[in-house]
Amino acid sequence: TSDVKTITITGAAGQIGYATAFRAAAGAIYGANTRVRLNLLEIPEAAQAAAGVAMELTDSAFPLLSEVNTFDDPNTAFEGASVGLLIGARPRTKGMERADLLAANGQIFGPQGAAINDHAADDIRVVVVGNPANTNALIAAKHAPDVPAERFTALMRLDHNRGLGQLATKTGSAVNDIEKFAVWGNHSASQFPDLAHTLIGGTPALELVSEDWYRETFIPTVANRGAEIIQIRGGSSVASAASSALDHMRDWINGTGERWVSMGVPSDGSYGVPEGLICGFPVTCTNGEYTIVPDLDMSPFACDRLDVSVNELREEREAVRDAGLI
Ligand code: NDP
Repeated sequence: TSDVKTITITGAAGQIGYATAFRAAAGAIYGANTRVRLNLLEIPEAAQAAAGVAMELTDSAFPLLSEVNTFDDPNTAFEGASVGLLIGARPRTKGMERADLLAANGQIFGPQGAAINDHAADDIRVVVVGNPANTNALIAAKHAPDVPAERFTALMRLDHNRGLGQLATKTGSAVNDIEKFAVWGNHSASQFPDLAHTLIGGTPALELVSEDWYRETFIPTVANRGAEIIQIRGGSSVASAASSALDHMRDWINGTGERWVSMGVPSDGSYGVPEGLICGFPVTCTNGEYTIVPDLDMSPFACDRLDVSVNELREEREAVRDAGLI
């Protein structure tokens, strides 16, 4: 029925998909008053594992979960979907060239974009988690000409949340007291976590931490946190990635008020980022739409950092264009 929202999760039997599904079923996106239907998409090899995830979801008796189904065809998995959490991607394996990785992901995100175009609900909103997330989102969007391009976004929120965590720990403050933090650029090591505008309890962050700590410790720590987690935990980030994907979607749909969040969104040319590149920006969300925070002063340092990351995005776009994927 129309009061049930359909959420499609790809790679649902993978680690992040598994962690995402249970909280999505518990209301993490739409809140406590909206029932949800979960559509779990997997590749045929993982269909049985996805069926097991569906069994566990049933066994959790979530009051908001109206039904859960598994699919190995994106066309049926995206039928009526209002939310797409595109988590499954082809990991880079030993000896794989970048072009091979992009081509393999083109085979995944192209058909998923087309399926979204033909079958999703009018209010479809997509966040791509599977790497390279920004460029995978671009591929999906290009295969969905009837869906507004701004409905395809990439996850920068994990980088954003990592930055909040680092800053709160360093300054002994609560994450809630931190305003106007953002991560610009690509979801990769070239990203730019930006403290220039950030306030903590109303005080500029750069009055509370040194410029040296910001440049030499904070930025590399946030940008390389994924690798650090792998080293310390013995496996890649899972629950934090899932949590941030849900934060991204919840805030996009329900709004942020004045609070900034970071989202990878198609550039409208703001801050010199070439139009159409899916790039991390500070945004606010109202009535289900995001707005890139306008008119920020960018220092030469900030411009340089953003340029480096945008150039990487541009190269990725060139590579998928050359491969005929967009
Ligand atoms: P994970 O669930 O751990 O990761 C899924 C994707 O999220 C990867 O591309 C990973 O990138 C990415 N990711 C983005 N940000 C982060 C982050 N901060 N930390 C960790 N990962 C991040 O992978 P699994 O291998 O456990 O699961 C993938 C599942 O997807 C498998 O079950 C597979 O069968 C499925 N799949 C489904 C497809 C489909 O539905 N059509 C298509 C392809 C795969 P990175 O590799 O860079 O870590």
